[in-house]
Amino acid sequence: MIILKSPEELQKMATAGRMVAQVLLQLKEKVVPGVTTNDLNRMAEEMIRKQGGIPTFIGYRGFPKALCTSVNAEVVHGIPDNRPLADGDIIGIDLAVTNDGFVGDSAITVAVGKISPLAEKLMRVTRECLYKGIEFVREGKRVGDVGWAISAHAEGEGYSVVRDFVGHGIGRQMHEEPQVPNFGKAGSGPRIRTGMVLAIEPMINQGRADVEVLADGWTVITKDRKLSAHFEHTVACTEKGPWVLTEI
Ligand code: MG
Ligand code: MG
Repeated sequence: MIILKSPEELQKMATAGRMVAQVLLQLKEKVVPGVTTNDLNRMAEEMIRKQGGIPTFIGYRGFPKALCTSVNAEVVHGIPDNRPLADGDIIGIDLAVTNDGFVGDSAITVAVGKISPLAEKLMRVTRECLYKGIEFVREGKRVGDVGWAISAHAEGEGYSVVRDFVGHGIGRQMHEEPQVPNFGKAGSGPRIRTGMVLAIEPMINQGRADVEVLADGWTVITKDRKLSAHFEHTVACTEKGPWVLTEI
């Protein structure tokens, strides 16, 4: 069942979303060669708790940290550890915060120092894919329109779209119905209605779409070990169109 949110509930979701946005904005500045993903995780948890929020990921199906940090060929769900980031890496940072009973979920991919033009382009196109998808969060559109817009842009640039992991509805739970694939047929899937809130999160690969999960049981990585990028926003459908709750 897709749970529609009232205007009051959307305001609460916007507060949680703003917290996520603020933390990601600050974290972005901390991404430099030599910093470890554990350092970033520690800073994020501190910032979340200071704002009075709860880091949603900690304990989610046993996940141990506040952030997911996915470096280079890692797609999503990387676990922060003591590896220092190196000049030229790209890192996906995924964060969710629960506040006042509602969850905000957002991810960015960030350059570490100076990166290659190819990595730069992958990041740019993945972010563009996110905004192409967001454009369809409108009354009367369908979930398949979102996925179609994302995959059309990614594949048009020669990239592939991860199939094994998808976006999702979001509200009191981080993962609600419907699933929001980053691919699909225009005009297919559940109808988008005012009050629906979707976490749209394209995962775009430089090489093939195939991914595997590492022995830690969490880290998703490209099979061909080529780069992957990930951007995500929590987006509400309103009468006036899409409202990006995790943007400030
Ligand atoms: Mg996320
Ligand atoms: Mg998500």
